[in-house]
Order: sequence, then structure tokens, then C-alpha cells
Amino acid sequence: MARVQLTQLVKRYGETTAVADVTLDIAQGEFMVLLGPSGCGKTTTLRMLAGFVKPTSGRMSVGDRDVTSLPPWLRNTGLVFQSYALFPHMSVAENVAFGLQMRRLPRADIAIRVSEALDMVRLGPYAARMPRALSGGQQQRVALARALAIRPDVLLLDEPLSNLDAKLRAEVRVEIRVLQQRLGLTTMMVTHDQEEALTMADRLVVMAEGQVRQIGSQRDLYERPANRFVAGFVGRANFMDGTIDPGGFFVSKGGTRINLGARGNGAGAVTFSIRPEHVHLTAQALKSATGKNLNRLHGTVTVASYLGAATDIHVLLPTGERMIASVPNRPDVRLPLVGESVELEWPMDSGLILTD
Ligand code: ATP
Repeated sequence: MARVQLTQLVKRYGETTAVADVTLDIAQGEFMVLLGPSGCGKTTTLRMLAGFVKPTSGRMSVGDRDVTSLPPWLRNTGLVFQSYALFPHMSVAENVAFGLQMRRLPRADIAIRVSEALDMVRLGPYAARMPRALSGGQQQRVALARALAIRPDVLLLDEPLSNLDAKLRAEVRVEIRVLQQRLGLTTMMVTHDQEEALTMADRLVVMAEGQVRQIGSQRDLYERPANRFVAGFVGRANFMDGTIDPGGFFVSKGGTRINLGARGNGAGAVTFSIRPEHVHLTAQALKSATGKNLNRLHGTVTVASYLGAATDIHVLLPTGERMIASVPNRPDVRLPLVGESVELEWPMDSGLILTD
């Protein structure tokens, strides 16, 4: 297992910049997830580390080895793709053995490693089966066993679960994570599935337009997003564009005034952001908060969407701006009706000012 470092990686295809400038440091044994919208450069970054795509510039190292110019088979990376890419004419065991034969390991060692790897993914009894006689989840576990059998320095997962149905996805997700932690595998996974990213990662890299927008834990990204893109991409948020007035208040373009407490500073255009679950309806108890620490806005309910654990109350403000309050569904909380007037409130320190 090894630490992985990407330094100022760039990949251009003619006029297109797939990866603009990515610097990442993945600790030994860490599960790092690259998350971002389609086309943001995640896969290209992973493929550069795997050795399938040659960077335009930048460096990559695995452990203390500079792998920038090494061909894929000398990098000792285990790869699992979205399409399982199993050889259909080979049995499960032969599929897992393939990479080891390519590395010219002695036959006895290969047999041991294949059985070890199949045990890890709980497919020992399936060694002689052909891939077509396995479910999608089992095939993906064979692909994982094949990647693990080479005892990789780093495991690379490229949307490994996206061909599985939702229930299997949740199962295999946990299996991969448990195994990764048990083996202490340094892992980089690419996904555009937020839930997958949040449940599996030690740390996440949020990318957009070929660039890293933020690196951090789930909590860092959710509670302290560095910019509007991350605040909107990870979880949901209400946004208002505006400026900070001389008194330290946020004033939206529509004229909504929001008390930020002592934190109101910042010049020029800024964005106010608050998570829907931090916006309360006045009827909800906010026992610990005193009136002067609260922001309070008046509005009219336009939509109420029931979402199981909570209901989203969409509120139109007199300024024409809109906010969503997420109200927990509890027997003691009465939900307002569409057309009803409501007061929205939140403690001053629940909101964020984003400058980027
Ligand atoms: P997705 O989630 O859709 O797989 P991604 O974030 O993995 O997206 P990449 O596949 O890394 O994105 O692509 C980043 C950008 O580089 C895209 O605009 C893509 O069209 C472009 N690109 C990728 N590979 C090539 C290529 N071989 N030739 C030209 N452009 C490419």
C-alpha cells in the first residue's frame, strides 16, 4: 500500500482541456473519491494514474516511485471498471488468474492468490463458474478479486457500481468499503453518484471543469463548502446573490436583508447560502434560540413536497425570491398549506457567505 501524489496534472485534447490542474495527495490506506458532474475530468484523472492516458504535463507518484512515464502494467494498480470487463470464455478463477499469469508468477503462487482473492469477495465456491452464470453483483466482485489478486499498491475504481441495481449497489458498496479498510488499500474511486461518494470516502475531491473545487471530508464539504459550486453540488442549499452592506448585513439583489452576526464582511458580490434543514417555520419550536439571534422572513407557501422523513416547504418572499425550508415530518409538527402565510427563521450563524 502506498501514498499517491498527483502534482499539477494537466490533460489537453487539442482545444479541449479535460484536466486543467489537479494536485492531490492520497494518504496510505485512504479512500479518496473524485466526485463531479459529467465531463469534469474525473475519469481522465483516474486514467492518467492508471497509465492509460498520458498527461500533457504534471507528475504522479505511487509510494516513492515516480510513475509518470511508466506503462500501466508496471504501475501495480488494480483496476475495476463500470463494465466488469470479464473474459466471457474464462472461468471465474481463470479471470482472476489472468493478471498474475501476465506477471509470470509461478503456478503454485497463482493458485494461492486466486483462492485468497476469491475468498475476500466471498466467491470461493464459484471459482469454476463462467461469468455468464453469475449475477451482475457477483461479476463485479470477480472484477474486484481480479484487481486485488495482484496485490496492488493502489486500487482504482471507475464508477464500479453504476451497472448494478439500487439494492445491490448499496450492498457491494459496503463490501468494497469493508474490504478496503481491512486491507488498508489506498484507493481512488470516480463517481458522479453523491450518495455513493459520501458513504464510501474518507475524503472527497469535488471537481468541475477540469479543476479541483474542494478537497475534504464529507462534513467539510457539507458544512464548510468553499464555494457556491460545492455548496450546490454536495447536498442542497438555498442561494441568494447580493452584497454585504456597511452594517455587516447581507442584502440580496431583491432587497432581502439578512443578519450575519459578526461574520458579515466581504466586498463586492457575494452569495448567501443556507441548507433547507436550517430554515425553520415559526411554528416549529426553536426553544434555545432567542429572538435577537434569529433571522425572520415572511412569505407564502407555494409548494409542499412530502419526502418521507421531511417535507420541503417552498416559500415565495415578497421580494420575489424563493426559499425552501425542510420540515421534519413529526406528529407534533403541523405542515402549512399551499397559499398559507408563514414566517421563516434561522439562527444567524446557520447561513454561509460564499465569495466564489
Ligand atoms: P463522466 O462522468 O461523464 O465520465 P468525467 O468527469 O469522467 O465524465 P472525462 O471523461 O474525464 O470526464 O472527460 C473530461 C473532458 O475531456 C470531457 O469534456 C471530455 O469530452 C473530454 N475528453 C475525454 N477524453 C477525450 C478524448 N480521448 N478526446 C477528446 N476529448 C476527450
